[in-house]
Amino acid sequence: MTLIEDLRAAIGDAAVITDPAQFAPMLTDNRRRWHGQAACCALPASTDEVSRLMAVCTKHKALVFTQGGNTGNAAAATPVVADADVGRTVLVNTARMNRIEAIDRVNATAVVQSGVILKNLQDAAAEEGLLFPVSLAAEGTCTVGGTLSTNAGGVHVLRYGSMRAQCLGLEVVLPDGRVLSMLRSLRKDNTGYDLKHLFIGAEGTLGIITRAALAFAALPAARTVFVAAVDSLQAAEKLFETLSKNFSARLSAFELMHAATIAKVREQLPDIPVGFELNHPWYVLAEIRYDTTEESEATRPQIENLLAALFESDTVADAVIGQSETQNEALWRVRESIPSAHKKAGGNVKHDISVPRSSLVAFITECTAELGKRFSWIAPSIFGHFGDGNLHYNMGVKPGLDPRLCFTHEEAIHAVVYAYVQRFRGSVAAEHGVGRIKTGWLRVMRSPEEYEAMRSVKTLFDPENRLNPGVLFDS
Ligand SMILES: Cc1cc2nc3c(=O)[nH]c(=O)nc-3n(C[C@H](O)[C@H](O)[C@H](O)COP(=O)(O)OP(=O)(O)OC[C@H]3O[C@@H](n4cnc5c(N)ncnc54)[C@H](O)[C@@H]3O)c2cc1C
Repeated sequence: MTLIEDLRAAIGDAAVITDPAQFAPMLTDNRRRWHGQAACCALPASTDEVSRLMAVCTKHKALVFTQGGNTGNAAAATPVVADADVGRTVLVNTARMNRIEAIDRVNATAVVQSGVILKNLQDAAAEEGLLFPVSLAAEGTCTVGGTLSTNAGGVHVLRYGSMRAQCLGLEVVLPDGRVLSMLRSLRKDNTGYDLKHLFIGAEGTLGIITRAALAFAALPAARTVFVAAVDSLQAAEKLFETLSKNFSARLSAFELMHAATIAKVREQLPDIPVGFELNHPWYVLAEIRYDTTEESEATRPQIENLLAALFESDTVADAVIGQSETQNEALWRVRESIPSAHKKAGGNVKHDISVPRSSLVAFITECTAELGKRFSWIAPSIFGHFGDGNLHYNMGVKPGLDPRLCFTHEEAIHAVVYAYVQRFRGSVAAEHGVGRIKTGWLRVMRSPEEYEAMRSVKTLFDPENRLNPGVLFDS
């Protein structure tokens, strides 16, 4: 039997699509820069089906690419293969593995299939009076499996941590079809190696995550959201220190936005109201969460007084505080629309970097000055999770120039930025992963010993390099 016939026998005719026109959107990455090819798209609905599918793929030595919502920013879910390999390439999409199987309210945990959309999980938690705290602009499309495989962060890492911190247990199907069950909902468990962590952030290179046990947090009773304008990065840093000192873990988000990024939202997405003037170089969106309404009522005046004092000391130049949930959401919408506004404007050269928080100001100042010296046309569009030391440090072109200009210098821009990242002992892939776009940089950023240890892990689980080949490792 052929690969396709065997797959159909294993998971059903309707779950194996061979007409590329029917799965064309799945063959292109989210940024539309990578285009893949595959003999078919397989849509399994259960762990058992994934297991049978993987056994078939082993028999036929097929290459297997796993895809969730296809919102990843590192082209890691795109089946880029040589023409000679298309006939043995299978794209596995988890869209049908979308069941929230169980919620344990007392344990504050859920067991879900990996194709569950993040927003659906958040809504299910809220219905139980609980919170699934990982939140990002792609949450209406990205999946539990994809966010675990990229160890996605989002906007509330400051308080709750990234996906890794929410994951208590995993079930994974290995390349040969064996099911590795680590699906425990325990908050404490020191029984030997904690293997699930190898699969979190592995970008689909070691196995297919089929189910996860995830922890919920307490649903906040209220929040204060505000946007503060600052005239310097030093002022942003001081604002962060002041808020951290005064509100500690209640500070759940501290997002930095270059004025140019908000201007792009205004220009490209006129339906998104920007409820403040753009007279300053930097803006910060901060959120403080409360466990009770009493705490909220007591703390809110404290925030207003603090911002007034920071205004008096010239730390904060202006501020707008959300007066209702509608206004809070409107402020967040501006921040969350930045990636789509840039995409609509033609894109820019992207970096998802992190450095120690104490080095952020020096990194931005020195690296941006160096780029300005080398490329007279460059225009920075910087935003991101300042509180986590993680920036989307993106470089576009000055107004009126063709946005494609920046892509003709992409490698040279990367080289400058990543040299500064190295100098500040940072990371070239803070939350989006290495994918197939930074494989060379993984080798540069890790010591030979660490890189070889990673390769050994890959060989242990996927000795034939059939799972997401070209992702993480270039060969
Ligand atoms: C507008 C926008 C905003 C974003 N904001 C953030 C942000 O704030 N923080 C952040 O961290 N990221 C952000 N992202 C990127 C983020 O990485 C993805 O949204 C998400 O984590 C990927 O989930 P997905 O289901 O779309 O996975 P895909 O894109 O389909 O896949 C991503 C990776 O996971 C693997 N994978 C998927 N499912 C499985 C599975 N079941 N088993 C094994 N491997 C699997 C794939 O092979 C691939 O390597 C943003 C993306 C967009 C478009």
